[in-house]
Amino acid sequence: REKLFGGFKKTSSKLTENLTGLITKGKLDAETLDDIEEALIVSDLGPATAAQIRGKLASERFEKGIDEAGIRQIVEDELAEILAPVAQPLEIDAFPRPQVILVIGVNGSGKTTTIAKLAHLFLEQDYGVMLAAGDTFRAAAIGQLKIWADRIGVPIVSGPEGGDAAGVVFDAVKKATAEGIDVLIVDTAGRLQNKRELMDELAKIRRVLGRLNPAAPHNVVLVLDATTGQNALSQIEIFKEVAGVNGLVMTKLDGSARGGILVAAAKQFGLPIHAIGVGETIEDLRPFDARDLAKAIAG
Ligand code: GDP
Repeated sequence: REKLFGGFKKTSSKLTENLTGLITKGKLDAETLDDIEEALIVSDLGPATAAQIRGKLASERFEKGIDEAGIRQIVEDELAEILAPVAQPLEIDAFPRPQVILVIGVNGSGKTTTIAKLAHLFLEQDYGVMLAAGDTFRAAAIGQLKIWADRIGVPIVSGPEGGDAAGVVFDAVKKATAEGIDVLIVDTAGRLQNKRELMDELAKIRRVLGRLNPAAPHNVVLVLDATTGQNALSQIEIFKEVAGVNGLVMTKLDGSARGGILVAAAKQFGLPIHAIGVGETIEDLRPFDARDLAKAIAG
């Protein structure tokens, strides 16, 4: 809670600063509306959201008296309205077992850490959890995931560096099924530099999963680093094409003033936002709360 607030405080500071002192005329004229729209755009909310909020302000308060608090309230309400439909926790269906969650994202986005955080969250809900080290391209990725698995006490299936990722996933599903595991979380490679290869690899993993269980993967979660700002939006676009995406986890919101990017993503893609990362330990995953973020951004 503390960390979340800390993170969101930074998130808020950007728009808070940008809006501060803008309302000098005591009423909302066209020039002030322009200034507000610009402040919204440079806060990463995206042009579509900025235009929507401008429209709302204009229709409600044009040429009428308004103060900064009044503006912030309207901004907050609009943002909350955009964000509310995408705030959806990652659900585990009762059937079938195991539920398979494919975790995708570029290297460095916080994928491995997020897998550990999700595993911890599911363990706390009394689910049996297993990890699969499907990023066979990086020895460090396999090693790092093993360290997390040990630390939180969950089994992990891995193969050699450079091995066949789909093979690892196949073994993992077999083992998870035999052991009655509830949730299998699969790490994957994040080499966007070689899109074709990544696409083939993820497609192969999907084929293998589908053969073992037609509904698998039950979820494909894209991990995004909030500090990359607008870049996160192009990553969503590419991964939708490469792998299909069911939902998002946005990481590093603790060290960033880029919370606005969540709004831009919600507006542009409408994908569920499952959770946010607010630090480097397994405790640092928070459910995504639309009103909290809206309030923080509006200041
Ligand atoms: P991967 O390459 O995508 O698997 O990324 P990692 O999980 O190894 O994370 C990359 C770096 O980001 C590591 O130093 C993590 O500790 C850090 N990290 C991951 N999530 C968060 C987060 O929510 N907040 C902060 N501050 N750091 C994070």
